[in-house]
Amino acid sequence: MKIVRRPAAMRALVREARRRGKTVGFVPTMGALHEGHLSLVRRARREHDRVVVSVFVNPLQFGPREDFRRYPRETRRDATLCRAAGCDWFYLPSVRAVYPEGFETSVAPGPLASRWEGAVRPGHFAGVLTVVMKLLNMVEPDTLYLGQKDAQQAAVVGAMMRDLDLPARLAVAPIVRERDGLAMSSRNAYLSPEERSRAAGFPRALAAAAALARGGARDARRIEREAKRVLRLVAKPDGIDYVALVDPRTLQPVARLERRALLLAAIRVGRTRLIDNRFLTPSRGKR
Ligand code: AMP
Repeated sequence: MKIVRRPAAMRALVREARRRGKTVGFVPTMGALHEGHLSLVRRARREHDRVVVSVFVNPLQFGPREDFRRYPRETRRDATLCRAAGCDWFYLPSVRAVYPEGFETSVAPGPLASRWEGAVRPGHFAGVLTVVMKLLNMVEPDTLYLGQKDAQQAAVVGAMMRDLDLPARLAVAPIVRERDGLAMSSRNAYLSPEERSRAAGFPRALAAAAALARGGARDARRIEREAKRVLRLVAKPDGIDYVALVDPRTLQPVARLERRALLLAAIRVGRTRLIDNRFLTPSRGKR
């Protein structure tokens, strides 16, 4: 595995590989890698001749009061994990290389970004789109791999790729969870043992909503209420940012569960923000 730091070197490697007929899969990350990230790397490994993994903690997507400075940085460990998962090129651009002095242009997301994470984190998706656009231009992959963990991010990036005619294809991979169901996240490292055990109640609350839907419930507000009830009972969150049953394509709330919908949620446990989501399908017949 080669460690690549300069954008020009990254592009030259990919172009040379492509000239020789190789295909390229790309997994962008912010590092502190876990099984969620590695599942994307392994899938890229299966589907392409060359695999690029980037680790870049993107300052543009953090708000002024967010955790940019304390975000975990473990590059050596990340490199070891990436090598084992089959990465060819481990791309580590510096903030200066990505945003040189005088940098002033950004990508503006559309209405898909306005609710949920976009509402709680103003400017977040503009930061995400800008860095993903830049990384796509540096790496020029055939496929971009993102995780369903960040469902709204995948939707917003997919819209950019379509709307701005970006040539790469988007692959979205399922959420990888800890044994107790908590979605893997680099931010789980912030949780104290007491917070970590409460956090396990988060996926349980989504599962309770799914069970209600399986039992025949269709009313979206009732399903959301059930998720919140179980959240308060078992996760005892320090805040619920949102729990919403939405259309998986538009991310707009649905009134009733008539077809497959996405239950999106974000909570705070201590000072840590956690997000998760789960697809719900209406049970046939009963209501
Ligand atoms: P991050 O390093 O948090 O920016 O995540 C990098 C990529 O890995 C994003 O596309 C995430 O959606 C994806 N990812 C993060 N956690 C998980 C997980 N638990 N399961 C699947 N994909 C994940």
